[in-house]
Amino acid sequence: LRPEENRPGAAEKEFENSIRPKEIVDFSGQDQIIDNLKIFIKAAKLRGEALDHILFHGPPGLGKTTLSRIVSTEMGVNIRETSGPVIEKPGDLAGLLTNLEERDVLFIDEIHRLSNVVEEYLYSAMEDYRIDIMIDTGPSARSIQITLHPFTLIGATTRSGLLTAPLLSRFGIKSRLEYYNSATLQKIIWRAAGLLQTKITSDAAMEIARRSRGTPRIANGLLRRVRDFAQVIGNGVIDLDIAQYSLKALNVDEYGLDEMDNRILLTIIENFKGGPVGITTIATAVGEESGTIEEVYEPFLIQEGFIKRTPRGREVTEKAYKHLGKTPRAEGGL
Ligand code: ADP
Repeated sequence: LRPEENRPGAAEKEFENSIRPKEIVDFSGQDQIIDNLKIFIKAAKLRGEALDHILFHGPPGLGKTTLSRIVSTEMGVNIRETSGPVIEKPGDLAGLLTNLEERDVLFIDEIHRLSNVVEEYLYSAMEDYRIDIMIDTGPSARSIQITLHPFTLIGATTRSGLLTAPLLSRFGIKSRLEYYNSATLQKIIWRAAGLLQTKITSDAAMEIARRSRGTPRIANGLLRRVRDFAQVIGNGVIDLDIAQYSLKALNVDEYGLDEMDNRILLTIIENFKGGPVGITTIATAVGEESGTIEEVYEPFLIQEGFIKRTPRGREVTEKAYKHLGKTPRAEGGL
């Protein structure tokens, strides 16, 4: 599955919600973001004000929705959740905004997909807590001003590069979520297994963690599948043997790379002699937007040392050749 399409279906959503951390103490990792949020939340509460608007950006499945809900819980306010493509008209936005109570959170997922018109209405709402709405059309058309309760907008996006400067500038807090290290993912898996009343050994949790592409959503999804194997072909306990057996049966890559990650590496190796090659050329070759490659796939491949950025473009590393079972081209060779 490609991360962008890795949005959960109904059953997965229910599963995700059942193990989603609800309080700040249950949220692991992203330490700096958490430390800062704690201060901002405390300060806003001391002053009795709405928290500043927040933008959470970063690859899918790293906890943007989870954190947004935790913020509203910690603030002791309600959260209303929607997403960019769902707000079709300014009237839809006005409906959401006028229903907010004092200091409530409005969460807009995929905020990069808001239409231009809706986005412009958001500016005055964010800045002055008011909106001007046109009512009627033709000769009787007129604009009325609606004053809103102070509120907090939390926007989430995997593609911050697509946000306009005026929108970006209206977020007082901007946080980029980072991939999780294996030790933190191991902890997340451990906690989820507990909630699922499944026994797991710590080396098995580590094995799943290592192959989760730095992403809690993937880690939880793998845990769920491995649990099936443990129950059907084992004795219900997830130990290292069962974990390794199931991950193999599930075709999970040793490093947790997904199909698109591998396609990008293979394309650079086979079509461009390992690089350097420009990002737009890679994008065309693999049939994906270059922005998505830059913001969703490449950061993990660079972090894990499969790709290097050079002044002339992207180059795969020896690790990538090894991983795909290819032989690196000899320097100055044929
Ligand atoms: P995003 O909104 O960034 O796509 P979500 O907030 O929906 O990601 O998180 C996806 C899943 O991963 C959820 O089931 C959530 O419980 C889990 N998750 C994300 N971050 C953490 C974390 N830091 N600790 C524990 N579980 C997490």
